[in-house]
Formats: sequence, C-alpha cells, structure tokens
Amino acid sequence: MTDSNPSDAVEPSNAAGTADPSVAVVGGGAVGVTAAHDLAARGATVTLFERDELASGASGRAAGVLYDAYAEDVDAAIGARAMERFRAFDRALPGFDFSPCPYVIAVREGDEDAEAVPEMVDRMREHGLEVSVVDPDELGERFPLSTDDLAVAAVGEGAGWADPESYVVALGERAEREGVTVETDAAVELVADAGATIRVDGEERAYDAVVVAVGAHTERFLEAGEIAVPVKPYRVQALTSRVAYGGPMTYDATAGVYFRPHPTGLLAGDGTEPFEADPDAYDREGDDWFVENVSTALRERADHDPEVARAWAGLCTATPDGDPLLGPVGEGVFVAAGWQGHGFMRAPATGELLAEGVLASLSGATVDDPDSPWVEAFDPNRFEGDETFEIEEGMSVSNR
Ligand SMILES: Cc1cc2nc3c(=O)[nH]c(=O)nc-3n(C[C@H](O)[C@H](O)[C@H](O)COP(=O)(O)OP(=O)(O)OC[C@H]3O[C@@H](n4cnc5c(N)ncnc54)[C@H](O)[C@@H]3O)c2cc1C
Repeated sequence: MTDSNPSDAVEPSNAAGTADPSVAVVGGGAVGVTAAHDLAARGATVTLFERDELASGASGRAAGVLYDAYAEDVDAAIGARAMERFRAFDRALPGFDFSPCPYVIAVREGDEDAEAVPEMVDRMREHGLEVSVVDPDELGERFPLSTDDLAVAAVGEGAGWADPESYVVALGERAEREGVTVETDAAVELVADAGATIRVDGEERAYDAVVVAVGAHTERFLEAGEIAVPVKPYRVQALTSRVAYGGPMTYDATAGVYFRPHPTGLLAGDGTEPFEADPDAYDREGDDWFVENVSTALRERADHDPEVARAWAGLCTATPDGDPLLGPVGEGVFVAAGWQGHGFMRAPATGELLAEGVLASLSGATVDDPDSPWVEAFDPNRFEGDETFEIEEGMSVSNR
C-alpha cells in the first residue's frame, strides 16, 4: 500500500488480515506523534497529518510538568508507563531531555482539600509510587518554600519536567526515520459516512484506520464526519520568569498555581478559564489577572518576585467525567482527546495504547474484549455525544 493513495492498493486491509495496515494519524501534537511512531514501529504504514507545524497546538504551549502521582488504578498505570518512557527517551531520543525534580503538593490551612491529601497519598502508595505526606515544617527545611500557612503537603519523588515542543519535534523526526510520512501544512477533514476516509487538499484518501488526535478541534473535526463526542476546549495559561529558581516543582493547590524550574528561570501556570473556548479564535496571550494571581502566589510560596519574560494561553480539553476519550468512534475511526490538562505527561503511554488499540481493533478485537489494550473507562462510546457539562480543571486535589 502507498500512503499517497492507499485506496488504490491491491493488498487486503488489515481487518482482512494483513500485518501492514494503512493508518492516517491526524494531529501533530504529543499524542499524534507518539501514536504515529508506535504504529510504524509495529508495522503499520503511517501518514501523520498536521495542519500547521508539529507542536503548534496545546503541546507546543504546555508547561512540561511530568508526574505519575495518580490515585486511580488506570491513571497510575498510565502515569507510570509514561514516566518510564520519558526516562528512556532521555537516554535514547536525540533532542529530548527529561529533568528529574520532586513534585510538591501544598494545601493551605482552611482549605477543605487538606483532609483529602493523606488518603490520596495512601492510594498512590498502594500503586508503589514514591509519594509521602510531609509535615509543613519538614517541607520548609528540605526546600526553599514558605510553609507557615500550610495545613498539609505531599511530595512525589518520581517526577520531573521536560520541554514539550522538543518531545514532539524529536519524536516526529524519529517517526520519519521509522518510515512515517509526515505532512505538515495539511488541514484534514473527515468524510462523513465513508469509514476511514479523509479529505486533504480536496482529495479523498481512504485508509484502514484514521486516528483523530486533533486536541481542541476534536468535536468540530468529528462533527464533519457526523460523529458526536462530548469534549470541550478550555483556556489555561502559563508564564516564564527571568528570576532564577532552584526549588522543587510545586503545586499550591489552594492558590491554584504550579511552578517549576525553567531554563529562563522559572515557569508557572494554571489560570484555568472553566468555560468553553473557540479553538479557532481564542486569546493566545496571558491575561493580566492571571499574571497578578501567579505573581502573588510566587511571592507568598517561594519568595520569588517574578520578572515576566512571556505569558501565554493555550487550550486543554474536558469531558463530562474527567476521563479521556480513547478508542473507536466509528468504522475505522479512532479518537484520542479529553486529557483535562494532563495530556503531555501521559502522551508516551496514551499514544502507545492508541497504537496497540488501533491494531487490535483492526484485527477484530472489541473494547470490552478481555485481551484488548483499550481501557473501558476511556471508551468514547460511554457517552451519547450530546451531553452538556461543566468544565472542571484537572489538576485539583479532588480530581486526582
Ligand atoms: C498553558 C498550558 C500548560 C499545560 N501544561 C501541561 C503540563 O504541565 N503537563 C501536561 O501533561 N499537560 C499540560 N498541558 C496540556 C497539554 O498541552 C495537552 O493535554 C496535550 O499537549 C495534548 O496533546 P494532543 O496531542 O492531544 O493535542 P495538541 O498538542 O493540541 O495537538 C493537536 C494537533 O492537531 C492539529 N490539528 C487540529 N485540527 C487539524 C486538522 N483538521 N488537520 C490536521 N491537523 C489538525 C493541531 O494543529 C495540533 O497541532 C498544558 C496545556 C497548556 C495550554
């Protein structure tokens, strides 16, 4: 089969038994490049389509905070696998670096989330994670953080940070070396009622599978193919400061602000706007209120008076239950979205799961098949697609 016109191919489709299915991966973010790379590594003939440049969506605007500190079974397994791959890529993927760094969750006195922290940490430890509840005084002795106003803190040791854009670019280049055809400046549409068929530059191309990893554009993209999914984009923000910071990655849960070391000095973020944003017309600059909130939290928590180098916004995606949509949504069509602000740190695992799931589905496996790689809790078909729901930010203690 050729990538340029797979529908002309004479070989049988994978569904009929070949080991070399043709797959179009749409979206050159962290999830799309990982899936494309992993599909090719497993023998698929892959074309990756990106309407702009690689990493031009949320992945190029992400903060790069990476941790495995999740309480839910499935989340913990995915987090652990993702961290394992980030560490392996650090050793073997030219152009990508992972910087190990502890991750502190701090909850202030008077915040009702404080009570939830010890139980949350117990559940994380049940998954073998190196996370512990730390007395605020001890936290202050270990790290350059102000701790007088804290009710409780937890520290995850197995965390770190990375530059998200470098991950996408480096893995995209490796995917090309593995035989993936990468088409940038290629805006793709899904053709309605035609299975795994897309339209690129006015030309229809049919594949064995189409993987939809278009981030904030997911709902619109699938709508064109008459497939309804409940996933909404919402705006979140980050900034960099030129003032040096050598402390741990920290999430001040009460202030709703996180920060980490950064080559410029420090990177901080959150600034969630919990309402639906327009993926084609959202404000890409950071808001004044966000810069002010973050600056206050940084002064209070880390004695850091920021000198802002850049403040920006990007889009995350939310679902009705906070779990992603990862799996088949139509004949040969697969979706991967709804990461609630945790899409980059899980991409090495979710992209891999996507690759294995697509190949299993093409071989006839269903989502509820006991041997299927798909995760039932993430099955997109658990929804009708027309649900209305409130957007909740994903980083909060109650959402772990
Ligand atoms: C400010 C900010 C901070 C964040 N911090 C973190 C963090 O610290 N840790 C973390 O884990 N996550 C973080 N996130 C979330 C993270 O960025 C996302 O969850 C993740 O990058 C999603 O990756 P993706 O590949 O699914 O989507 P994207 O990176 O958005 O990729 C989708 C791609 O699809 C392309 N596309 C869209 N439509 C089409 C089309 N029709 N045809 C072809 N291509 C198309 C887009 O151009 C885009 O490049 C942050 C997000 C923001 C905005």
